[in-house]
Amino acid sequence: MKIIRRAIIALLCVVPFAAYSLNEQPQADWEMVAKIREEGFQRSQVMDIVGYMTDVLGARLTLSEHMKKAQAWAKAKMEKIGLVNTVIEPFMDYGAAWDNEYFSLQMLEPDYQYMMGYPLAYTPGTNGKITCPAVIVNIQTKADREKYKGKLRGVAVLASPPVALNPAAMPQGVTRRTDEDLKRLEEAVTPPAPRAAAPAAPPNPDALRPEEKIEFYKAESALAVLQCDSGAFGLVRGFGRPGVNADKWSREKDLASMPIIAVTPEHYNRMYRILKRDIPVKIELEVRNRIGEAVEKACNVIGEIPGTDLKDEVVMMGAHFDSWHASPGATDDAGGCAVALEAARVLKAVGAKPRRTIRVAFWGGEEQGLNGSREYIVKHFGDVKTGFKPEYDKFSVYFNQDYGAGAFRGVNLQGNEFVRRIFAEWMKPFRDLGFTTLAIQSVGSTDHVSFDRVGLPGFQFLQDSVGFGGHANMDFFDTLVPEDLMKNAVIMAAFAYQAAMSDVRIPRKTIK
Ligand SMILES: [Zn+2]
Repeated sequence: MKIIRRAIIALLCVVPFAAYSLNEQPQADWEMVAKIREEGFQRSQVMDIVGYMTDVLGARLTLSEHMKKAQAWAKAKMEKIGLVNTVIEPFMDYGAAWDNEYFSLQMLEPDYQYMMGYPLAYTPGTNGKITCPAVIVNIQTKADREKYKGKLRGVAVLASPPVALNPAAMPQGVTRRTDEDLKRLEEAVTPPAPRAAAPAAPPNPDALRPEEKIEFYKAESALAVLQCDSGAFGLVRGFGRPGVNADKWSREKDLASMPIIAVTPEHYNRMYRILKRDIPVKIELEVRNRIGEAVEKACNVIGEIPGTDLKDEVVMMGAHFDSWHASPGATDDAGGCAVALEAARVLKAVGAKPRRTIRVAFWGGEEQGLNGSREYIVKHFGDVKTGFKPEYDKFSVYFNQDYGAGAFRGVNLQGNEFVRRIFAEWMKPFRDLGFTTLAIQSVGSTDHVSFDRVGLPGFQFLQDSVGFGGHANMDFFDTLVPEDLMKNAVIMAAFAYQAAMSDVRIPRKTIK
């Protein structure tokens, strides 16, 4: 009976975007879900996996030596759990590799204070230990430069205003979604309109761009730039040097820049307030950064559980493996990678034989703009500009975790009404985990968007919020909630499995 039904469906599936027929009821596979839950809850390895990523491998800036080592580990780990066709697959030229190897910042006068901070990525080091005065500089326009000409030689520039900290607005480590919050998301029947961008202020022709400010400090022979843009206690926030995305991580531009240091607000503000009293501040700074000699390609890491009768069709799950460079990115997004890998491990452990191939992706280059997933999709599935490939029609669905490391509470439908009834059915075995909500809303800023933008079904789960140190210096293993990651891995495994087994591929939106 099943075979006959499959044969009929197979005929129907010649139409590339065949969806579930109205008469067909998708069913959760409770038997397989029981096996997945048993393996994923009673023999979980997700914390061991994410523990290795965060404690042993550490930060994973795209195209750093750290990341290369981590990707080699990820490929080997995929193979160890039984994935095949594993590959560290280059996706685009990514400039020179960059790693921070040493950092030390102290205030020496008027009082000793060790300082928390770290260098922005893609900046040069200090060439040994330097001791120098720190001075406040406030330059916004070309004209502002005049007051500082000839006055910055040999100093460290405090380049940003002090940051006001509000104890009442301290970020929470764990914020559970409330019933009202979930109800509101569920009852929003139309996708909320994209938030209108605030009207841009007319560009001030005299304003200096951040990279022009750095050029000025450098030309004036300042030794270093200190800055603070973190609004949270104890958090240092800093990304890449100004202009780096535009100049494509150029080694020459890295070397031509100057040491730029992000400092924790408490320490930065202290220096600033002392200087405002006209009392000199003296600091000691040493930064050693390794900058690669040649342009290299950044990579994604891919592995598969091969399918059976529908092995040419693909279900994907994944997360971005790259982090910023100041901490191991436990919640952003080692947790997501561990969930996808644990989901694959659980499926292997329970002996799942999916009809479609289940592919796990650890993306690179997400933090600089979803680069790894976008380029992967263009190469393997195509897009409007380069043309769609036969694999485009054989793709079913992609599942992603990247909104911190909190428990899945539902699925953001990304405006796709056609998946509602399928996902609603697959969610039923997980009501006890609080996984209950389908929200029509589209969410952005992570790798499922790369699928969505070419019309392929890609979904980011609706999550509780766990973690407050993403993109900063405090995103460590300690932030993670083991039960949340275990639940997510079990749900991810069940969704990927059922998508790989169902008679038809996940339906696509008709409106792009
Ligand atoms: Zn992320």
